[in-house]
Amino acid sequence: MMSWNRPQQNLTEAELAMLAAQGNNQLTQAALQEMLMAQQGMQEVAATQNIEVPKVNFYPSRHADPKKARRKDIKQAYKLLQPAKRSWINPFRWALGRKYRYNKDTGTCVVDGCNCANLIQHDNLYMKISDEETGRSLWEMYWQNPVTGQPEAFIALDKVSSGKKMRGTYCPEHMHLYHLLNKWEAEEDKQNEMNPNRLRDKVKRGVSIVTVPISSVKKNDPTPAMLQKYEPFFAELERDAGKTKGINVLHYANPATGQNDVTMVVFDLRIFQMELQQMNIPTQAFQEMLNVENAKIQQNLDGGLGTGDV
Ligand SMILES: [Zn+2]
Repeated sequence: MMSWNRPQQNLTEAELAMLAAQGNNQLTQAALQEMLMAQQGMQEVAATQNIEVPKVNFYPSRHADPKKARRKDIKQAYKLLQPAKRSWINPFRWALGRKYRYNKDTGTCVVDGCNCANLIQHDNLYMKISDEETGRSLWEMYWQNPVTGQPEAFIALDKVSSGKKMRGTYCPEHMHLYHLLNKWEAEEDKQNEMNPNRLRDKVKRGVSIVTVPISSVKKNDPTPAMLQKYEPFFAELERDAGKTKGINVLHYANPATGQNDVTMVVFDLRIFQMELQQMNIPTQAFQEMLNVENAKIQQNLDGGLGTGDV
């Protein structure tokens, strides 16, 4: 079982830097900081709301060889991200075939049963924890449909990075560990890819690698030289077209070649005038405020004149 006091919980900046300098190169100080933030955030929610919140006890490897340290970190992450199983003697497991403890709804963490749906309502930690390099949040990376952008629960797999889809997810802390695991594995893959054995395997399977010199893939730009001086003009147009509906740059692509055959610029005076007019009409509320202010000024003026007379 997990032990409930984690040594790196109250780490100082210096201790964190020391931990980051050892072992896995990808586990940088920034990554460790995000990890701590995830844990602290979860604990805060636990303290203020009545949600049972777990603590993930990940101990970064301090192995002197960074590659071996990463391998160890990956192994540990797999272990920590395994969905919780029922014990062998639990009747649910042997009689009903329900092997996993938390496998009922996509708002629950498969490892610790934390109610993530409830957690999001109080404090969306997925939005606050982000990748230390790209700055993208866990929410953007894992909880949004990439096509529609709609929120969508992350679905955990029974073998962490492969296997069957479960009916469950990862809480912010486990989600962050899962994200780190993905990064570490990607880095490992990248290094294995450079291994000469890997290349030989590919060649055996009929895959050959041809390096294309950069100069030979020069962009094919069909713009005639004479038209190039108009580029700043078009850049200006494109910029203004974003501000007003009165400017439109229309491109007609040739259906056969896909090339831009005809470009038209449309200035629509009617729309310009309409937009100008709309800018000058204040909203109802603003107009009322103006009227009140006007009345006050008028009153003051009258009053001032009155006293002057006496
Ligand atoms: Zn969890």
